[in-house]
Parts: sequence; C-alpha cells; structure tokens
Amino acid sequence: MDNIEKRIIELIDEHAQELQALAEDIYTHAEQGYHEFRTAAIAADLLRGLGLEPETGLAITGVKAVLGKNEGPNVALIGELDGLACPDHPFANNGFAHSCGHYAQMVCLLGAAIALCDHEVASALDGKVTFFAVPAEEFQDSSVRKEVREKHDVHCGGGKCELIRRGQFDDIDMAVTTHSHMVARDSDADILLGNSACTGFIGKTVYMHGRAAHAAAAPHLGANALNAACLGMSALGMIRETFREKDCVRVHPYIRKGGQAINVVPSEVEVDMMVRANSQPVIEEVSGKVDRCFRGAAMAIGCTCDIEDSQGYMPCPEIAPNELMFSTAALLGDDVKIASIPLGECNTASTDVGDLCSVMPVMNFTFGGSRGDLHSKDYRIEDPYVAHILPAKLMALLTYRLLRDGAKGAEEFIGSCKPTMTIEDYKAYCGKMSP
Ligand SMILES: [Zn+2]
Repeated sequence: MDNIEKRIIELIDEHAQELQALAEDIYTHAEQGYHEFRTAAIAADLLRGLGLEPETGLAITGVKAVLGKNEGPNVALIGELDGLACPDHPFANNGFAHSCGHYAQMVCLLGAAIALCDHEVASALDGKVTFFAVPAEEFQDSSVRKEVREKHDVHCGGGKCELIRRGQFDDIDMAVTTHSHMVARDSDADILLGNSACTGFIGKTVYMHGRAAHAAAAPHLGANALNAACLGMSALGMIRETFREKDCVRVHPYIRKGGQAINVVPSEVEVDMMVRANSQPVIEEVSGKVDRCFRGAAMAIGCTCDIEDSQGYMPCPEIAPNELMFSTAALLGDDVKIASIPLGECNTASTDVGDLCSVMPVMNFTFGGSRGDLHSKDYRIEDPYVAHILPAKLMALLTYRLLRDGAKGAEEFIGSCKPTMTIEDYKAYCGKMSP
C-alpha cells in the first residue's frame, strides 16, 4: 500500500461518523425517481463544501462535479439518487423507500469525493474525476413518464439514458458503478467484483377501450375492457411455455387503471408492463407475441386496444473483474471478504447501467451489509460498515489506481472494453424510440 492509498483509507475512516449520519438521513428520506430534490441538494452541498462547483438540475435532479486536470481520462463515479414505491417498508417516506439500496451508492460517491478531493490525493491523479449523482435508476411507470415528459421534456424512463441523450456523458471516458448485492443477494462476501449480465426491456402500455353501460341493468349494452385486459393476461400466461430459459424472458403486467365506477361496465383500462430478455432481438420477438395476446383478447370481447411501446433499458453485458480490481480490493484488509460476481448467471432484473455499458467502459462492484429482498419491505441494513464505508473506500481506491502513473490502469481498462455503440448512435436510437 502506498502513502496515497493509506491517506484515502484514513480520510474515509476519519469521516465515518459523518458518512453514517448521511446514510441514515438519505435512507429515511427516499424520493421517487426524477423527484429526488432533497437528496440532490444534499449531494450538491457536500460537493460544494469540498471546493467543487457542481452543476445541478441535470435531467431534473442530476448533480455533476468535476475534479482534476485537463489531460488524462475522465472517470465518472456514479451514485443513484432514487428510492422506489415501497409503502410497507418501515422507513418509507411518502410511500417511497430505499429498498434497492441506492442511498448507499450516494454515501459511497460522497465518501469517495471526500477522499479524492484531498489536495495530496487529488494531485496524484493523472486525469479527471466526475462525481455524478444520477436520477431515476428505477424505470418510472407511464404516468410519471408522461408527467416528466410534459413538464421537463424528459424522453427516457431511466436517468442515465436521459443524461446520455442530453450529452452529459459526452466528455466522460469510463464510469465506475456500484450497487447493493443483486444476483448473489445472499452472498456472505463483503464485496463482489464485476458486473453480472442483466436483462434489458421495453416498456409497454396497453390501452383497452370498451363501452360503458349500467353494470347490472344493461351489461349487454357494454363492452367490458377489464374482461378484455384479463383475457389478454391469460393469453400471455398461455404463451409463457414458448419463452426459452436461455433468453431470461420476464413479462410482468399490472393493471394501472381498472375501470371508472363500481356500477359501470369498465370502458377504459390500462395495463402497464415491462417486456424483458437478455438480448434486443428476443425483446422484440416477445413484444410482438404480447401484442398479439392483447389484440386478440380485445377482438374476442368486442373492444379495441392501442398499444404503446416505450424505450426501456438495454441488456447489460457480463463484465468479469480484472486484476486491478482484485489487487485494489485487497487493500481493504485481510478480514474483508472479496470475491468475483458469480460468472455465467443472468440477473433477470434490468438497470440503465446497461445503456451506459453500451456507450462506454463500465467498472462495477456490489457490496453486502444488507439483507432481505431488493424492492421489498424486508430490505434492511445489517452491517453499516460494509454497506456504507467499505464501498466508499473501494470506489476511491479504484479511482486512484485507475488514474495514478499516467492513468495506465484506466487506459488499459478502456482498451479492454468494446462498447456496442457510440454516444451519437445512442442519441439517434433515443430519437427512434417512443418516450
Ligand atoms: Zn437498484
């Protein structure tokens, strides 16, 4: 371990109490995606306090601050701002909770900023560091997407997608991301290095139109849109045997609007869903099958339906950890359990980190310290050191190792990754997809 590495670890240990207080504050004040105003203000204030000049209000709530020299690669450290709807969670705030653990990414990002902005540490970096708090990792349902589209011209359901579209990643060469353990949720490792493959998806909303009538006196005059929607979901159930395991298909509808009144044949029903798989061609193939189910059901019941597809997230590639990640993680101490993410396993959930991976190299690790299923009321913190302090140390140490000695580590990692499209390609792709 060199002196800068020692300094990074000391600085984060010195600020551990402050970081734990920050963790508790953000954890108990979860906010909806694209509405994370309080959390964004905390991040901006802290970055300002470190002598940086954060830009705010990026894709509504994003915050970005740059540290360092003009020469050398620009490494973005990412922290997700949003909680998700989870009203049963013991720490729910207006129905939203941090049951995906994103609050801990913010602590990690800000902890890493405290260490990297130290004069001695910063002067050892041969490149730039962009501290980037990003909105809305959780895909927003169609009503929220409509609201942010109308008020703020937001095209994408995911914050990173929107930020790429708006050019906020144009000058960034690679990103470092992190998350609470996902595919190996029950792993007893403190840190898992690398990134599991994740599914991508499109958003789909079915608008089923029927005819309203008195539900008891004259149902024969109506066309029941709720029945048509239910029949469509039954048909969807019956085609599930055509989904191949290797494609990791997931289609999960919910009825967002089920009728107007108790004594009226439902005439307008909306079904929102995500159609997921581990490759774009399969997503498109399954999407066509789902459309057939709902269109056929509409015809059978005497209804009509409109189906709107919207841009979702891209599948995420598996990224095995490299030697730099293992040797850096070893600096955390002999008592810290480090392992690779389980290779060859697909995380059937999706993330807009997939979109980021499609346009730039992304280095990822996940951290333990929490138990309970993600997105459930059971998500809880078990070890605040592992969940909050350890990831901050690793993010800062990785950044230093990437950027020290002429940024050889970063150059090597960037050279080893092959993003599938340019940022300009991605912007064009957004233009072709419906919001
Ligand atoms: Zn998450």
